[in-house]
Amino acid sequence: MDSKKQGTICVQGVWNPKQGEPRVVPIYQSTTFKYDNSEQMADLFDLKASGYFYTRLQNPTNDVVAGKIAALEGGVGAMLTSSGQAANFYAIFNICEAGDHFVCAESIYGGTFNLFGVTMKKLGIDVTFIDADAPEEEIDKAFKSNTKALFGEVITNPTLAVLDIEKFARIAHKHGVPLIVDNTFPTPINCRPFEFGADIVTHSTTKYMDGHATAVGGCIVDSGNFDWDKYGDKFHGLTRPDESYHGLTYTKAFGKLAYITKATAQLMRDLGSIQAPMNAFLLNLGLETLHLRVPRHCENAQKVAEFLEGNDNIAWVNYSGLESSKYHKLAMKQFEGGRSCGVVTFAVKGGRERSLKFIDNLQLAAIVTHVADSRTCVLHPASHTHRQLSEEQLKAAGIDADLIRFSVGTEDASDIIADIEQALSKC
Ligand SMILES: *Cc1c(COP(=O)(O)O)cnc(C)c1O
Repeated sequence: MDSKKQGTICVQGVWNPKQGEPRVVPIYQSTTFKYDNSEQMADLFDLKASGYFYTRLQNPTNDVVAGKIAALEGGVGAMLTSSGQAANFYAIFNICEAGDHFVCAESIYGGTFNLFGVTMKKLGIDVTFIDADAPEEEIDKAFKSNTKALFGEVITNPTLAVLDIEKFARIAHKHGVPLIVDNTFPTPINCRPFEFGADIVTHSTTKYMDGHATAVGGCIVDSGNFDWDKYGDKFHGLTRPDESYHGLTYTKAFGKLAYITKATAQLMRDLGSIQAPMNAFLLNLGLETLHLRVPRHCENAQKVAEFLEGNDNIAWVNYSGLESSKYHKLAMKQFEGGRSCGVVTFAVKGGRERSLKFIDNLQLAAIVTHVADSRTCVLHPASHTHRQLSEEQLKAAGIDADLIRFSVGTEDASDIIADIEQALSKC
């Protein structure tokens, strides 16, 4: 299946029913699984045999959907989580513990910024935020002897900065750490970060992957490419015996699957942010049309961005599909057909007040705390998602007070543009 093209993986990937089995992946709405003798069950608990025993660790529906996302990204394995937040937390926590440090691009999703900058610090895991567009030598300075990872978003939410993945991979590998990237906005339809050297990919599947705003979820995908044993002392959680599994060593027992197996067998076992099988089923329905929806989102967003750029009421527009974007060239190189995502940011002339008035005037585009689903929606980050950030933090995150995040849906572009026109005419 892996050698098939993206569209085929989206529709049919991983689920290959045999004669008489359900054509559609069933929802295995069962917390537990039956065995005939106690030794079989014991082997599962020791990771000596593979199989299902308790849904907190693994569930057949979840595995099919995780396998599909792994195939789309070109990875060796994946794990679903209950949310994108859980995915990013586990991705770091799988290799960092109290006393460790990681480096992260400062312009990232507000929820991730809080998680890394505030909550993980309480666990004794320190982060240094850096400007992703800074020269390599500048970013090098943030690395310390206890640094365990480099993290960035391929397209940042909401500032839409495009990460130079090759540059970041080069920096991470020079310092002997994996590059972890959040690929939520481009999705593997537009970008496959492993091809540019990223080692681990995370997703908020809540966004385009589900695509219909029905289920919060997340995913971690492992490329299998990072050589943990080469830096054995640094990544001792993977390269030395795990007491909680009778001294099993993940890199020895699972090779390229060491990282993702540890995330499942240890972190998910202990912390339990599993995606409900029902949600995985809904996510899978979304994935079945991902290859159709994402290009449509981008095509509509391009039309909206071009309209805004030519409108006198608009102070500025940011979309990497526009030649005026400083990320245009990078987007052309890294993204399939230069397509980035369906989100456009801009400001209305007249500052924050007029931007807010404009948002209130919209009719087709709804004000929701969401982004990247089939219905066009809009948000003012400084007043909504990023409310908790101080003026200084907003500035560091690159969020202007008048920035409007406009998530272009899959409706007819002409109706979306007409809505923008009427809202502008009233403010
Ligand atoms: C939404 C989002 C998250 C958090 O995901 P949830 O599913 O809301 O927990 C993480 N990263 C990015 C880029 C996001 O857009």
